[in-house]
Amino acid sequence: MTTTLENAAARELSAKAQISRGHDQVNSSDLFARALKVSPGGVHSPVRAFKSVGGQPMFFKSAQGAHLVSVEGRSYIDFCQSFGPLLLGHRDPEVTEVVRETLDLAWTFGACEPYSLELAEWIVDRVPHVEKLRFVSSGTEAVMSALRVARAATGRSRVLKFDGCYHGHVDSLLMKAGSGLADGQAATDSAGVSPQLAQETLIAPLDDLDRVAEILRAQASNLAAVIIEPLPANYGLLIQRREFLKGLESLCRELGILLIFDEVISGFRVARGGMAELLDVRPDLVTYGKVIGGGFPVGAYGGRADLMDLVAPSGPVYQAGTLSANPVGMRAGLATLKKAESLGIWSALAERTSGWIKRLNPALQERGWQIDHFGSIFWLRGRSDQPIRRLSQLPAGHAEKFRGVFHAAIERGVYLAPSGFEVGFVGWAHTPEILDEASRALVDAVNR
Ligand SMILES: *Cc1c(COP(=O)(O)O)cnc(C)c1O
Repeated sequence: MTTTLENAAARELSAKAQISRGHDQVNSSDLFARALKVSPGGVHSPVRAFKSVGGQPMFFKSAQGAHLVSVEGRSYIDFCQSFGPLLLGHRDPEVTEVVRETLDLAWTFGACEPYSLELAEWIVDRVPHVEKLRFVSSGTEAVMSALRVARAATGRSRVLKFDGCYHGHVDSLLMKAGSGLADGQAATDSAGVSPQLAQETLIAPLDDLDRVAEILRAQASNLAAVIIEPLPANYGLLIQRREFLKGLESLCRELGILLIFDEVISGFRVARGGMAELLDVRPDLVTYGKVIGGGFPVGAYGGRADLMDLVAPSGPVYQAGTLSANPVGMRAGLATLKKAESLGIWSALAERTSGWIKRLNPALQERGWQIDHFGSIFWLRGRSDQPIRRLSQLPAGHAEKFRGVFHAAIERGVYLAPSGFEVGFVGWAHTPEILDEASRALVDAVNR
């Protein structure tokens, strides 16, 4: 009996292996046609469908270092890097080894284990504004939980966010500026979100401290928190002035409103202590995701101990997770962070990226493009002599112009994230040689 079952399982496995070997024969458009039948839009996260750049999404079968390999077998220099988690590139050898080792220990316990403790201690020992933290499984979950803590701590329900910042698909933050932006009122930005939640969310423009001060002073008694991406990098790269963020910090302190830094994209990417360290701002709560899990589904929220102690079981704020702190993600994250620290990767990558872009920009600018960057995060956008700190400052027609460059770059072996509003990432695996090769492709793509 057992033998029959085992044989059946073995046959099934080898059939599956054949299907995956068979991927060499399949192509992206056949796979997408199949995917459309079983998943909404054929994808599991909207940008992957290539809607904003047009055409059929590409399917990839493997990745190594700075490169992706499509199911057709073609290799591409990858600047999407899974939208940010891969600080070291795909399947960094040291992280791979740790992951393999962990697979032999356990996949998940749903119980206490030392691996999350090691990652938590590593972070708390080094990041002064994180006195305690809790691991979750995505950036969205981290933000959602941080807001719950802020509301519990203040007994207030409203939250102020900024136009041009993204915080995951948390209901109360899927908001856009309402018609009455004058009073900071929000409107829902997704179907299925209760319109009542719009009353809990206020929206302010980036880079306008006077406006923010006005809204905060008028609403202080209702506001639990201000949440901001200190490096807004989800609608292009809208680098803020330090004075703006310092000003926000002092307004929040003065008015007794909690300041939440959403560092899901910037945390452990631009510096060990994220933007908070670089700006010397001390947020009350901070959210992480992406790099913290080294490419596995990990998020975290943390901050002041008195606030984090409100979380169950030490306090009344309920938050839990079946797969929270899974050992594979914990150890991949820690291996990534330890390697980044020991090799000085944060500053080295920032230098490498800035050298690359300095060499590349003159040729792009001749054709009306340019790249902005902060650390290893970059954004290809239409040339203008002004810095872009708010989306409204973006030259018109950006998304349409980006389409052409995106497809031309793909033809030349470079994969950018499939939207003109997504940023790119330089990882440790992008050697100067690979970056120079990418430069030639990109210049050729804008010159086509
Ligand atoms: C990616 C991102 C999120 C959402 O994280 P998920 O893991 O996709 O849920 C939230 N905030 C910021 C700033 C992000 O960049």
